[in-house]
Amino acid sequence: MKKGKKLYEGKAKIIYATSDKNLVIQYFKDDATAFNNLKKSTIEGKGVLNNRISEHILSNLTQIGIKNHLVKRLNMREQIIKLVEIIPIEFIVRNVATGSITKRLGIEDGTVLNQPLLEYCLKDDNLGDPLIAEEHILAFDWATKSELEKVKKMILRINDFMIGMFRGVGIKLIDFKLEFGRLKENGKNEVILADEISPDTCRLWDSITDKKLDKDRFRKNLGDLIPAYTEVAKRLGILHEQLNLSAVNVTKLRSVKKRK
Ligand code: 5GP
Repeated sequence: MKKGKKLYEGKAKIIYATSDKNLVIQYFKDDATAFNNLKKSTIEGKGVLNNRISEHILSNLTQIGIKNHLVKRLNMREQIIKLVEIIPIEFIVRNVATGSITKRLGIEDGTVLNQPLLEYCLKDDNLGDPLIAEEHILAFDWATKSELEKVKKMILRINDFMIGMFRGVGIKLIDFKLEFGRLKENGKNEVILADEISPDTCRLWDSITDKKLDKDRFRKNLGDLIPAYTEVAKRLGILHEQLNLSAVNVTKLRSVKKRK
């Protein structure tokens, strides 16, 4: 499949056209941003790890019937995905209170919620992705009632599945962000899971030590982001050895893939 022109560049990914108008290539960059772009850096190897981890999670979600945009991973940094019209909402799922909710509502950090909490943010960097209510989504036609009901059902299943998957490898799924898109296929319009699910979009804490294994290592200047993401990948069974993802070791990762 031929890679065409750049269609969109976001903070962590680039989307390229392909020779098939229904498919695009999603390229994972090493760029890291936080606090609405105020903090920026490049962390070598992050894109490679997120590509692999997101592929693993989305493939598993396909297995349990959650339709999503992933077609297949192409290489170290790229996936072929179905082209969708992204719903301009960030769906935030929380199992444990931390991050913005603790500041916004004065909740003690680490409070375990007695049921998953779903929050909606408008996907708009200029406005700082503001928190919105379901009523805003309907009032401004960002999604229909029926789309929202379908998305909510999917989100609960995704959360249940991911809690179990991570618990099995000694990781607590604290919270995460999901995005959904509209897919037109065979004359049908449906809403499917899109974007990525990775340590960039989830908070993941070690079950025993509460060590942060996610992007908070960057946000909070904790360092060792690559070892933490590598640890997540290893525990999920994606990588079988500790990898230092420098240019040299990218070759090593290729050979690991080939041996499988
Ligand atoms: P918070 O609202 O506490 O900052 O984030 C809640 C969860 O959603 C965290 O897992 C965080 O990583 C994720 N999240 C929220 N907004 C964004 C975003 O704009 N980009 C990314 N990568 N993750 C986000």
